[in-house]
Amino acid sequence: MARDLAATLAWAETGTRLCASALSGLSEEEYGAASALPGWTRKHVVAHLAANAEAIGNLVRWARTGEETPMYASPQERAAGIERGSRLGADQLARWFTESAATLAAAMAELSDEAWRTEVVTAQGRTVPASEIPWMRSREVMVHAVDLATGLTFADLPDGFLRALREDIHAKRGRDAVPDVEGSPADVTAYLAGRPATGVTAADGGLPPALPPWL
Ligand code: ZN
Repeated sequence: MARDLAATLAWAETGTRLCASALSGLSEEEYGAASALPGWTRKHVVAHLAANAEAIGNLVRWARTGEETPMYASPQERAAGIERGSRLGADQLARWFTESAATLAAAMAELSDEAWRTEVVTAQGRTVPASEIPWMRSREVMVHAVDLATGLTFADLPDGFLRALREDIHAKRGRDAVPDVEGSPADVTAYLAGRPATGVTAADGGLPPALPPWL
């Protein structure tokens, strides 16, 4: 495992900063423009990130108290929250993103060693130790910082994070389900994440098949 708690906590902070800088200075109209994710505006992405901070906060609370608090009440509730949030104004969304991220960071900073070892259940139904929580959050803020489509690319993300992400996606997708591809670490990671990746080639030198979206 190439990731530890200190690294993933730092990545969550880095990703939060990348999102905040991507969003700073965007007009209402630019907030409402298309993101890199099919069918989602930037507002959908920001609403998802803010709701995700709160949902992940539920897992932090679970770890701290031992009381089972799932991320989302249901997949429908998760989708409805994103849809509602996408209709907020840019200022409100920016505040929601900033405050929810700060609240989550503060809650994670207070967890004891014992709490980090508590088992919690993710929205996908996986049982994981709470120490996975900062990794889950760093994936969201890092990858969606690129999805905000304000000019950031995977090459702007830390090398260690990209390496950990490739390992994670290989493990989740199943190594056999993913063709071997060649390219820069950033492009290969983008490809594995189901994002547009130029400069990635398959073993035979041709274009690899596009992978389904991830996250
Ligand atoms: Zn996401």
